[in-house]
Amino acid sequence: MKFKNLICLVIIITLFSCNSQVAKEEIPQEPKNVILLIGDGTGLSQISSAFFFKETDPNYARFKQIGLINTSSSREDITDSAAGATAFASGIKTYNGAIGVADDSTHVPTLIEIAAKQNIKTGLISTSSITHATPASFYAHTISRGLQEEIAAYMVTSNVDFVAGGGTKFFNNRKDGRNLLTELEAKAYTIDTTALGNFASIQEYSKVAYFLAENHMQPVAKGRGDFLPKATELGIQYLNARAKENSSSFFMMVEGSQVDWGGHANDADYLISELIDFDDAIGKALDFAEKDGNTLVIVTADHETGGFTLASTPKTNAEGKSYSDYNEITGSFSTGGHSATLIPVFAYGPGAEAFSGVYENNEIFHKILELTNWDKEK
Ligand code: MG
Ligand code: ZN
Repeated sequence: MKFKNLICLVIIITLFSCNSQVAKEEIPQEPKNVILLIGDGTGLSQISSAFFFKETDPNYARFKQIGLINTSSSREDITDSAAGATAFASGIKTYNGAIGVADDSTHVPTLIEIAAKQNIKTGLISTSSITHATPASFYAHTISRGLQEEIAAYMVTSNVDFVAGGGTKFFNNRKDGRNLLTELEAKAYTIDTTALGNFASIQEYSKVAYFLAENHMQPVAKGRGDFLPKATELGIQYLNARAKENSSSFFMMVEGSQVDWGGHANDADYLISELIDFDDAIGKALDFAEKDGNTLVIVTADHETGGFTLASTPKTNAEGKSYSDYNEITGSFSTGGHSATLIPVFAYGPGAEAFSGVYENNEIFHKILELTNWDKEK
């Protein structure tokens, strides 16, 4: 009898665990909110530097779903940030320098425009001017990334709910004499050009824009402080509250713009300090997503910059013989430009599994829309 009971118990447990397994797989993995973090110029060695030079555990290590993207643009093997961001924002491969336009220069709808149409709350954060190639590709349409005053004008009609970055001069010191800050205020934006506020001070505002530098924000090593992680946290709080009020959801793009510039300058210290700052912003997004349970966090890059390598330090021993010190890393570079290396994609939250595998950079846009259905009329 005892043995028979035990068999019954085993069968019951097996059935129960099978059932719960099935139930788990049937839960639709549909994210409500999406946070896309782009580390400009951030390849695998840039990411790896956080594992050797950050004093705390890297937030990159918190992901379980990882993929790789090919970042080539429509005309070049090696992309620039404009074509790279347009691939993410609009799901197409275009030519280097293009902002929100296809290879034939026709305008293509962006994630921000698609989401805003459905009353989904949207946000853009960067440590460059908000008119620079990466953020610009999410709200503007110009044949060239250099047309920054033209790009700024798109902000007025973009409907972005939360903005934080640099670029004031493209709004209020323009050749056409327009003052876009005044125009934004007329469209219900509260603008601050001095410092980030706190959630309590901004939660009642219908739209918020922080322009905290004439052009780009300072490098983190030259006094930017914790702007990027703080803006990320504030943007999430603000957009989440606005989304809840409207029974809606939110999309936010956060760019660590200056990892790229450390790469272009072949300056490992600049690159690594920007990467660590970007990793802090990733932490803010993951902290929220873990608590929220309905938020998909995607972290990737437009391309790698500098051909960056975590090489061993070349040394000479007492006998005058040169050797590589495997206990000491020296960041080294192979180019002052971008490289063609595949770029990692990290995903966390509902739908994260869709981002594993090896695919093209513009697929990220299509994966987001397949998961959220933001392009379908509700
Ligand atoms: Mg950029
Ligand atoms: Zn670059």
